[in-house]
Amino acid sequence: MSWHATSPTERYIHYWEIRTMINRRRFLQYSGGAALAGSANLGWLGMTLAGTHNDARIVVIGGGFGGATCARYLALLNPAIHITLVERNKNFVTCPFSNTVISGLHDMDYITHSFDKLQSDTKITVINDEVTGIDPVTKKVQLQKGKALRYDRLVLSPGIDMRWGVIEGYEQKTADKLPHAWQAGPQTALLRRQLRAMKDGGLVIITAPDNPFRCPPGPYERASLIAYYLQKNKPKSKIVILDAKDKFSKQPLFQDAWDSLYGHMIEWVPGSQGGKVTKVDAKSNTVYVGTEQHKGDVINIIPPQQAGDIARSTGLTNDAGWCPVNQRTFESSLHADIYVIGDACIAGKMPKSGYAANSQAKVCAVQISASLQGMAEVEPSWVNTCYSLVTPTYGISVAAVYRHADEGIVAVEGAGGTSSREAEASTRSLEASYAEGWYHGIVRDIWG
Ligand SMILES: Cc1cc2nc3c(=O)[nH]c(=O)nc-3n(C[C@H](O)[C@H](O)[C@H](O)COP(=O)(O)OP(=O)(O)OC[C@H]3O[C@@H](n4cnc5c(N)ncnc54)[C@H](O)[C@@H]3O)c2cc1C
Repeated sequence: MSWHATSPTERYIHYWEIRTMINRRRFLQYSGGAALAGSANLGWLGMTLAGTHNDARIVVIGGGFGGATCARYLALLNPAIHITLVERNKNFVTCPFSNTVISGLHDMDYITHSFDKLQSDTKITVINDEVTGIDPVTKKVQLQKGKALRYDRLVLSPGIDMRWGVIEGYEQKTADKLPHAWQAGPQTALLRRQLRAMKDGGLVIITAPDNPFRCPPGPYERASLIAYYLQKNKPKSKIVILDAKDKFSKQPLFQDAWDSLYGHMIEWVPGSQGGKVTKVDAKSNTVYVGTEQHKGDVINIIPPQQAGDIARSTGLTNDAGWCPVNQRTFESSLHADIYVIGDACIAGKMPKSGYAANSQAKVCAVQISASLQGMAEVEPSWVNTCYSLVTPTYGISVAAVYRHADEGIVAVEGAGGTSSREAEASTRSLEASYAEGWYHGIVRDIWG
């Protein structure tokens, strides 16, 4: 059976294996069956029965795709251990499906999730505060409002922050006029309002950064769904994507779809042909490629990115602004007992996606649990699927399975792939429903 013949539910079997391992562990606990845990697979699970590290303290920073998953699975694996999750926002707003909000298909509630269920499902303490500092020597996390937290193991999944000023004139305050909408929330709502207010016949400019960046297919899904909105509401309008790159994720699939569904509404300009934006002027709504100027009615700047600020201020990043880690365990290469997962870390061939962060978080939870019990590392594998909607009923995807090799995380050859260019409309429609299914499944898996 090919990967694309499987549904998201089937793809989740990988994760149910982890849940099954956990349930088996519980069975062993209740049956006092440590002696049953003789197989290599169950060895470390059996050892947890000794409970020698029940006083260990784990702090997780970031309640997004990586952090909330890791906290939940650490709690499942180590019910007696004290786990604290620190998140600066009261609710988490997902970037996945935020493009459907921008184009008016869903509202903000659809992508907003509270931490209540995560707390009631587990014994995790969720603290709504900003982490302002980490001391890797004394092993303390400083909070803005609360007192310092001591940790034995620290997990960071702080996501991304923008590299302000790399595009001249694009500073944090500029995003109030020219939104990036690359962290979901008020920025998503702002871009949506601007599109609604734009006149028919207006020009939308989207600028896309060079690799690596959060969600490689994201800018192109955004252009597609904005085109969907404009075609219905302001059909004389146009979208120009000014791209720093010469190629992008799922490119033939997107371009086929744009040609057939949107005619000439979307124009993509590659980096080598005038797409690499160097400067913006928010006052005159102008973007510059060298001396060439483009004036837009709505301008969405997706700037170059780096690991979240807290990772950088703790000295967990390299010169490029991302966190090097042991790609088998996600322990930082720069500070012991600190683990970095999700967009902030360098995870070999895995893309910076929510699904990848979720997959990494589970592996990280298993490896930390093993290390707390003095057990050997577990042989990991990961999965990722990135769905993109071109319309609400036209979905495309790219999927891969990953393993650990000497050079780090690599894709398993022959596993996964992209949607077929020849697929029927009915398959596109199925993939669109899989995208929704994937979203509901992963949200439930993480926040409950
Ligand atoms: C438009 C768009 C569409 C996308 N669509 C998809 C998709 O369809 N599928 C997919 O798999 N991925 C998608 N992604 C990518 C996905 O959103 C990210 O890869 C994912 O969120 C990364 O998870 P993370 O845990 O690294 O970061 P996040 O999920 O961003 O979580 C980081 C959290 O850390 C918190 N935080 C940071 N610093 C601190 C601090 N100092 N103190 C307290 N809290 C802090 C932040 O508030 C945030 O809540 C999309 C992204 C975009 C922009």
